[in-house]
Amino acid sequence: MKKLVCAGEILVEIMAERIGQSFLEPGPLVGPFPSGAPAIFVGQAAALGQPAGLIGAVGEDDFGQLNIDRLRALGADVSAITSHKGHATGTAFVTYLADASRHFVFNIRNSAAGLMAIDDAARHLLADADHFHVMGSSLFSDKATDVVLAATAAVKARGGTVSFDPNVRREILQVSGMRAALDKVLAETDVFLPSGDELFLFSSAGDEKGAVDDLLGRGISCVVLKKGADCAAYHDRQGAVALPAFPVEEVDPTGAGDCFGAAFVSMWLRGAAPVDALRVANACGALAVTRKGPMEGIYRLADVEAFIARAGTRA
Ligand code: ATP
Ligand code: MG
Repeated sequence: MKKLVCAGEILVEIMAERIGQSFLEPGPLVGPFPSGAPAIFVGQAAALGQPAGLIGAVGEDDFGQLNIDRLRALGADVSAITSHKGHATGTAFVTYLADASRHFVFNIRNSAAGLMAIDDAARHLLADADHFHVMGSSLFSDKATDVVLAATAAVKARGGTVSFDPNVRREILQVSGMRAALDKVLAETDVFLPSGDELFLFSSAGDEKGAVDDLLGRGISCVVLKKGADCAAYHDRQGAVALPAFPVEEVDPTGAGDCFGAAFVSMWLRGAAPVDALRVANACGALAVTRKGPMEGIYRLADVEAFIARAGTRA
């Protein structure tokens, strides 16, 4: 079974209880929930049975322990997550707004997450990795960017593959060299997983088909478009396939894209047909939104398959 690795921010997420609740005054909060896009991705891949490890850093505190415990329980390799005394684990405070958008207050760069590095444990994890996944949100500092680019290069050098979710969070990505770094990642990408307008970050084409064709023409093997509660679509040079999203009640949308991506990449690494990979990814994305907390809606393969079977019976 192929092994995948991701590197990046590990956080706890703390949510405002009420829609539109301001952080400018005290109010009810829920959490901490284990989080960080790379952690969600690796947790979901591991839950599906894919060998999966994460390079990252936490503080020697309860928030760090919460994340490590959860990842380990899901079956992820946590050997390259370092714990740092005197530093706090990263945090993300989120409030959901009435227009369904989100407002975040992040502490990542100046948290323990900013200390992630390619140390001996990371080198060991990467030594037999077949695949590396890049989250755009992980390019939150020059140092973090160096880690992501070095890991990408290491896996590519041994003949591995790379997937890339731009996962743009405007609140995080103000690093001056970010644009150049995103372009470098794209040049190494086999599986590209944008959501919404992120497709147009790398193409000046005026429409979706033009942008997809543009990216496929530049050597990317496949482009997988995430469209929330609507649908998801797979494109490669041979053709395209789209599947509607599973109808579920959305409780908390955060983490859907990461669970979707992890499922798609895990199935792709197993050689699944695109439509089958897309179906499992859609199911993991749908299940992710049914629970409050970004990693609370991660399910194991048997449960995901049962969910798909139940949905098929109803259709
Ligand atoms: P994230 O907030 O994690 O960054 P994203 O913007 O990257 O998410 P989305 O398009 O919101 O990605 O969601 C990814 C996938 O999850 C969708 O393509 C779909 O399969 C599933 N999904 C998301 N929201 C819903 C929903 N409300 N109902 C059913 N499926 C959903
Ligand atoms: Mg996303």
